Amino acid sequence: VLIAGLLLAVVVASASWLLFSLRLRPGKEILLGIKRNEFHVVYQPLLEAASGRVYGLEALLRWTHPVTGPIPPDAFINYAESQNMIVPLTRHLFRLVAQDAQLLRCYLPPGTIMGLNIAPGHLSAGSFHQDVNEWIAAMPPAHFDYVFEITKRTMVAGKNVAAVFDWLHQQNITIAIDDFGTGHSALIYLEKFNFDYLKIDRGFVQSIGMETVTSPVLDAVLTLARKLNLKTVAEGVETEEQAAWLIKRGVSHMQGYLFSRPLPPEQLISYLQQQADA
Ligand code: C2E
Ligand code: CA
Ligand code: CA
Ligand code: CA
Repeated sequence: VLIAGLLLAVVVASASWLLFSLRLRPGKEILLGIKRNEFHVVYQPLLEAASGRVYGLEALLRWTHPVTGPIPPDAFINYAESQNMIVPLTRHLFRLVAQDAQLLRCYLPPGTIMGLNIAPGHLSAGSFHQDVNEWIAAMPPAHFDYVFEITKRTMVAGKNVAAVFDWLHQQNITIAIDDFGTGHSALIYLEKFNFDYLKIDRGFVQSIGMETVTSPVLDAVLTLARKLNLKTVAEGVETEEQAAWLIKRGVSHMQGYLFSRPLPPEQLISYLQQQADA
């Protein structure tokens, strides 16, 4: 009877543990990943088109899951957004970037841009202002300039977006519209919201040199950006040919594998030192 009772207890305990961990699953994996320090940040240099100078970095999250290994950012960001986990995840990003910045600032001049991807859902979250304030307080004082890169995907959902943009500008944070040229009806947002940078999606850049009809569209986007007084950043620049074409059309800023992949801090520092020696 004693042994049977013990067995029963073990079965009940493991069953409830299983139920508990199953219930824990949706989204909580992200919280666990944060707790277990499974996330890290890589930084991709942003270059001034004319001079080739590194003027900034884009911070990109990486997640190495202990069981499945590296998870593609598009996948876990979408997952985090769908599970209402994007706010804790972005807070964690803020923490990691603030830590890395203590080292990185020694290798980058004051005024270097630190660009972060901010999910539109976070903008309308109640904690957004406080999250940003805490991040700024944790960053090295007066060294980096901040750019928040925002995709237009779900921007329409938040009605107070214009007010949030105003507030960000008051904090000296500038705003980039990310992935411009993907999806639909992006033009309306350019009129509606006060952006500083327009990031031309990789898809556009990759069509350069392929003699397709997309070059006139890219031309029109660049004209538009000039008229709206937006700085332009071409992303996904992989070839000299693309870079030359973009410079000729007046694109002011670039990033892509041609210059550097996103790198962890130590490798980024080597890259910066190589640039300085060249
Ligand atoms: P994104 O914001 O458009 O980031 C640029 C993506 O292009 C990065 O992919 C980068 O590694 C990749 N890339 C840069 N240069 C080249 C190139 O020359 N060729 C090619 N083929 N790719 C290039 P990654 O790191 O996989 O990130 C994918 C997306 O996940 C990002 O797209 C962004 O939307 C999202 N993401 C990444 N980190 C974060 C984050 O911390 N927060 C949020 N909200 N989203 C993030
Ligand atoms: Ca981005
Ligand atoms: Ca982008
Ligand atoms: Ca993208």
